[in-house]
Amino acid sequence: INILLLGSGGREDALAWGLRQSPRCGTLLAAPGNPGIARWATCLAIDPADPEKVVATARERNIDLVVVGPEAPLVAGVADACRAAGIAVFGPSAAAAMLEGSKGFTKDLCLAEGIPTARFVRVEETEASLAALDGFGIPVVIKADGLAAGKGVTVAMTRDEAEEAIRAANGGPLVIEEFLEGEEASLFALVDGGKAIPLASAQDHKRVGEGDTGPNTGGMGAYSPAPVLTPELEARAMAEIVTPTALAMARAGTPFSGLLYAGLMLTAEGPKLIEYNVRFGDPECEAIVPRLKGDLAELLLSVAEGRLGEVPPELSDQHSMTVILAAEGYPGTPRKGGTIDGIEAAERVPGVTVFHAGTARHGSGALLSAGGRVLAVTALGDTLAEAKARAYQGVDAIDFADGFHRRDIGWRELERQS
Ligand code: ATP
Repeated sequence: INILLLGSGGREDALAWGLRQSPRCGTLLAAPGNPGIARWATCLAIDPADPEKVVATARERNIDLVVVGPEAPLVAGVADACRAAGIAVFGPSAAAAMLEGSKGFTKDLCLAEGIPTARFVRVEETEASLAALDGFGIPVVIKADGLAAGKGVTVAMTRDEAEEAIRAANGGPLVIEEFLEGEEASLFALVDGGKAIPLASAQDHKRVGEGDTGPNTGGMGAYSPAPVLTPELEARAMAEIVTPTALAMARAGTPFSGLLYAGLMLTAEGPKLIEYNVRFGDPECEAIVPRLKGDLAELLLSVAEGRLGEVPPELSDQHSMTVILAAEGYPGTPRKGGTIDGIEAAERVPGVTVFHAGTARHGSGALLSAGGRVLAVTALGDTLAEAKARAYQGVDAIDFADGFHRRDIGWRELERQS
């Protein structure tokens, strides 16, 4: 199976690492890739969100499967272009990517299908939005309708804060919704048309600071599985949320194919949908891929070819933890160019793999930080505590003076276990 992988982050490095281990993986290309991905794949300097370029490259290089990592190429219609050209692609159409691209679209679908989610209204104009606040208590959640790279959501703890978020939107489309009480967990499912099967669960830490404080980031760490999403709750989330979504999308003539990531709030009434992503999460992907026992290329190809279930996903019982090393300054203006050493030493720790999220190779061969999230150190262990101990042993072996990380990934679950 010749594969073209789109993307350049830690998520794609984990996918490339997993695909490279597949006995059936032939040529592995990445666009644009990164220095970590270059260990497993040939990197091509092409724009992954350019449908024509992607199709032309896939044709030229005899590609059997295109794997799309990030959301931007999906929203840009790269998967549609591949399908139209007869190239198998792991990732949904632009129409199905609306599940991530528009919060309003997903909320309407939940309402129509009776899928558990926070009560909401869609509003547009500032005065109407302010008036709509009367229908909600405090806290209340204000969300921009559209891709906002994790920055479009305000959980307002006061009415003033809510009004400020509405005014800041300048009359743009918003979703105002009820605040849900509970713990968040992520469920990753493989979906093809009306069929869906669970792949794995995970939890991540979005805030930059220890104790889950400070500004939001793309994610400072993750672990899988998320024991808080018990088998019973997972079955409920599949039956009440994911499968009805897959069926509704298929019925609407916009079937979903690929990975559907359900962000859930585990409330006293059961799991409720907070949001969908239409691709793997980053850093959750770095925690999940090392737990996959089967052949990743076969698995993704089976979904892309409409044979979901023919290659059942096999997950190890081991726990994994991913710790992100970010550049000083992130998520504000990160410092770029700091040198990184010690990755080999980190990978000598049993169970540890280091994925590259934002690195650059200097002409001299030195590995440098490209800013933002830089490395994702993942460890497997028989328990979450063991995975954590190994992950931090790996982190401590890395010399990255311009970087920082959180020391408390997994704290909530580990506290519960003790
Ligand atoms: P990302 O993709 O980065 O997770 P996003 O911008 O797509 O974020 P959401 O996931 O919808 O936005 O919301 C971001 C965060 O806000 C959630 O992870 C959750 O912590 C909080 N949140 C969102 N909606 C609610 C809600 N109804 N009740 C409580 N918290 C919420």
